Amino acid sequence: MADNNSHNDESSQIDSLFCEDDIVISIDKSNSTDYPIIFRPEYDIRIGCFIKHFYPFDTNKWGKVARFIQESFNSDINYIKPEQPISNEQLQLVHGEQFIKNIRSRRNLVRTSECFILYLLPFDWIDQRIIRPLRYQTAGTVMAACWSYKHRLSSINLGGGFHHCTANESAGFCFFADITLAIRNIWSACLADHRSPIPILIVDCDAHQGNGYERDVLRMTNDENHLNAIIESDHFNPGLIIYNAGTDCLQGDRLGQLNISAKGIIKRDETLFRFGSRNKVAIVMLLSGGYQRNNAQIIADSILNLIESNLLTPLR
Ligand SMILES: [Zn+2]
Repeated sequence: MADNNSHNDESSQIDSLFCEDDIVISIDKSNSTDYPIIFRPEYDIRIGCFIKHFYPFDTNKWGKVARFIQESFNSDINYIKPEQPISNEQLQLVHGEQFIKNIRSRRNLVRTSECFILYLLPFDWIDQRIIRPLRYQTAGTVMAACWSYKHRLSSINLGGGFHHCTANESAGFCFFADITLAIRNIWSACLADHRSPIPILIVDCDAHQGNGYERDVLRMTNDENHLNAIIESDHFNPGLIIYNAGTDCLQGDRLGQLNISAKGIIKRDETLFRFGSRNKVAIVMLLSGGYQRNNAQIIADSILNLIESNLLTPLR
């Protein structure tokens, strides 16, 4: 990662993808109700009523969160939009050739989504309706992370948080390793800025373990980092926090099987953002798991609470 060639390659990848000129921020400068919230309507997975019968998760959660936030304001919020879904070339910063080939493997699609009816549907339909939205969400995570690194302010991607996907294998409805991609992009940006990679803390409050990035980050660790992590664990001073704000810990979630209330979710998010504010550390919040019908409203209420508590800085 540190040699000159890879440095230049990685820098140019970031420049082509995520430099500020490429970020479409449609902001009315006189409007104070724009926030660093990343979203576009293409995040939603539109699989139709028939397939929903076989797959009873709320695959329009992301759009609903955006709409519920919007409805609470008298004026429109302009979300920051990832202009393009993440491409295979951009995925290569983390994912290998075989992984990228497997995106088109039906067996892999069914295993990752745990949705057996996908065996019966044309690949192009699956690609447009399922894979493409998740590519947009992945681009959104990287965009949020790069934005927060650059501006040292917190941001929220209304999607992403695919913490079960490793560099080599998708799993548990996590098709792309967006968190590892975000970290690699930030560290590449650090190198492009002629500084050491910043320490990044991942706070994962999803009901399940983030086994994907865990494996990937361990693979990036050398002797020195490993020993420092042990010796300096009490003095860890993160330059950025990636917050996987899964809501499958909510009461009634049959996958999470935990018992956290809506109030508890809102308090949880506020507590972490207060920590970030107090310690001047930017947070990149991702939505991750939680697909009950009531999740979207609770997530929107929590984000509105962050805004009302002045924990998310408006764009000016
Ligand atoms: Zn989960």
